[in-house]
Amino acid sequence: MKNRSINTKCVQGGYTPKNGEPRQIPIIQSTTFKYDTSEDMGKLFDLEASGYFYTRLQNPTNDMVAAKIAELEGGTAAMLTSSGQAANFFALFNICECGSHIVASSSIYGGTFNLIAVTMAKMGIEVTFVSPTASEEELNAAFKDNTRAMFGETIANPALTVLDIEKFAKAAHAHGVPLIVDNTFPTPVNCRPIEWGADIVTHSTTKYMDGHGAAVGGAIVDSGKFDWMAHADKFPGLCTPDESYHGITYAEKFGKEGAFITKATAQLMRDFGSIQSPQNAFILNLGLESLHVRMPRHVENGQAVAEFLEKHPKIEKVNYSGLKSDPYYEVAQKYLPNGGCGVVSFEIKGGRAAAEKFMKSLKLAAIETHVADARTCCLNPATSTHRQMTDEQLKEAGIPAGLVRMSCGLEDKNDLIADIAAALEEV
Ligand SMILES: *Cc1c(COP(=O)(O)O)cnc(C)c1O
Repeated sequence: MKNRSINTKCVQGGYTPKNGEPRQIPIIQSTTFKYDTSEDMGKLFDLEASGYFYTRLQNPTNDMVAAKIAELEGGTAAMLTSSGQAANFFALFNICECGSHIVASSSIYGGTFNLIAVTMAKMGIEVTFVSPTASEEELNAAFKDNTRAMFGETIANPALTVLDIEKFAKAAHAHGVPLIVDNTFPTPVNCRPIEWGADIVTHSTTKYMDGHGAAVGGAIVDSGKFDWMAHADKFPGLCTPDESYHGITYAEKFGKEGAFITKATAQLMRDFGSIQSPQNAFILNLGLESLHVRMPRHVENGQAVAEFLEKHPKIEKVNYSGLKSDPYYEVAQKYLPNGGCGVVSFEIKGGRAAAEKFMKSLKLAAIETHVADARTCCLNPATSTHRQMTDEQLKEAGIPAGLVRMSCGLEDKNDLIADIAAALEEV
């Protein structure tokens, strides 16, 4: 599958049935696996043989779907997690511990911001946030002796900023740490961060990968390129013996290609759980089979809606990196030549009340906290996710009261535009 187009990998990656086996990925709905001898099972516990023993750690259905996602991103190994939150936590906590420090883009998903700034702080892990547009010098200045990872989102949810992946990777590598990129919004169909120097890629598969609003999930992909042993003093968890696995040193036994995911499975999945259910992995795979067909339509609809809104007199401002007027247009041309995603945000003149009236008047676009599925949906942060904030506080946070985030689905773009035009008439 390695040399096939991404379109073919979406359909057939990860699983090649042998003679007489199921054509579709089978759902192995079993918590546990049977062995003939204790010796056979002992080898699995010692990581001497690969195989399955308990679904909290690994399940064959999940592994087939993870293998497809690894192929799509151009990585060497991958794992599924129960959610995108679990994926980002595992990706960071696999190499950070109490006393570590993270450099992260300030323009990231609110849940991830909270995870890093509040919850991981309670674990003794510090963070320095940097602007996604920071200069090389500003990025370099954010690193400390105890920095263990750099983090950003290819297209940030909901700010829709675009990450200069090469610039961030260069800064991370200059300080001997990996760059972790959350690639949820573009998906590997529109951007493959590993090709630009990212070391670890994460996903909320809940979004476009599933694409039907059916299953919460996450994924972590390892590029297999980061040389842990060259920075062994920074990553003792990968480069010194794990006593809970009979003294295995992950970076030695599994190499650059396998160490990160093996450790995340053997330690973090074992201790925290957060496995994706095989049923959800099956649903996710159905989504992946059409991802390459769906993404161009999401982009087409997002672009058409953004262009319509930009010309509308009742709209103050539109954020969409496919618009020439967008501050991220240039960087998007480089990393997202086929477009980014279907999420557009815009500010309606008249603030909170105007946004509320507009959204109430929409017939096709539903009000949801979700994004990135087949059906168009929208959200006004000021009256929902950020409703505890005053207009002043919202302004400071860069979220105007009249801001609407719209996730353009797979409907006909002319119907979407007609729906938006009619709703704007009501404002
Ligand atoms: C939704 C989202 C997450 C969190 O994923 P869940 O599956 O909801 O846990 C993380 N990162 C980004 C960019 C997201 O959009």
